[in-house]
Amino acid sequence: MKKYIIGNWKMNLDYAEAKSLLQEVAKAQDSFDKTAEIVVCPPLVYISVFHELLKNNEWIKLGAQNVYCENNGAFTGEVSPTQLKSMGVSYVIIGHSERRQYFGEDNKMLLAKVKAVLKQGMTPIFCCGEHLQVRKSNVFKEFVMKQIEDVLFELSADEMQKVIIAYEPIWAIGTGQTATAAQAQEIHALIRLRLEKQFGAKVSTQVPIIYGGSMKPDNAGELLGQKDIDGGLIGGASLDAESFAAISKVS
Ligand code: 13P
Repeated sequence: MKKYIIGNWKMNLDYAEAKSLLQEVAKAQDSFDKTAEIVVCPPLVYISVFHELLKNNEWIKLGAQNVYCENNGAFTGEVSPTQLKSMGVSYVIIGHSERRQYFGEDNKMLLAKVKAVLKQGMTPIFCCGEHLQVRKSNVFKEFVMKQIEDVLFELSADEMQKVIIAYEPIWAIGTGQTATAAQAQEIHALIRLRLEKQFGAKVSTQVPIIYGGSMKPDNAGELLGQKDIDGGLIGGASLDAESFAAISKVS
């Protein structure tokens, strides 16, 4: 399976900075691994400009950090799947821990978003992962499996095979404390096993399971070298074009 190298810029950078970072990423094109799928997810407000800037770029794909589950209507402040689709967006992050924590997104909402994104032919990047407290409690494996089961097990096998799963242990996000390759691989393998039980071997081997949480050029090689780690969802390090390119190359 090809590797997915996905930059989540979160709520960072003003317009000039965002535009210049995109240009740097595009310029660094030659130093990226060409076999990997490269995706940038800028703040939503820049999506239409990025769509224009990437018009002739076959290589960098556009992703969104969030979406609403309806296509139109009186939902002040929200952005719809059809609107994203019309801006050339191909990937949408859904259920990031920051959205669950600060914006109270629950499983019902996340499932509706996943379905709405799939309906538009875009790829949902469904995030899961445990807090430090849960990790310490020793039920973290069940916790992560339940996050997946409660949402993704409501999908058909056909829908499931179009989803990317991102395992992002919350204690590793933005902390500099990455999961070890062995810790990440253990959960990734478990997720794949649960997918196999629920949807069959074909789906389980097709679904990319990517890792997020303080992934940097110096730890990416080991993480991405694991059998069940199919890419990275990269926050901080994606704000530096050189680091982002370096991560793709070690994959
Ligand atoms: P960091 O790479 O900054 O830890 O962020 C990971 C993340 O949350 C990506 O979605």
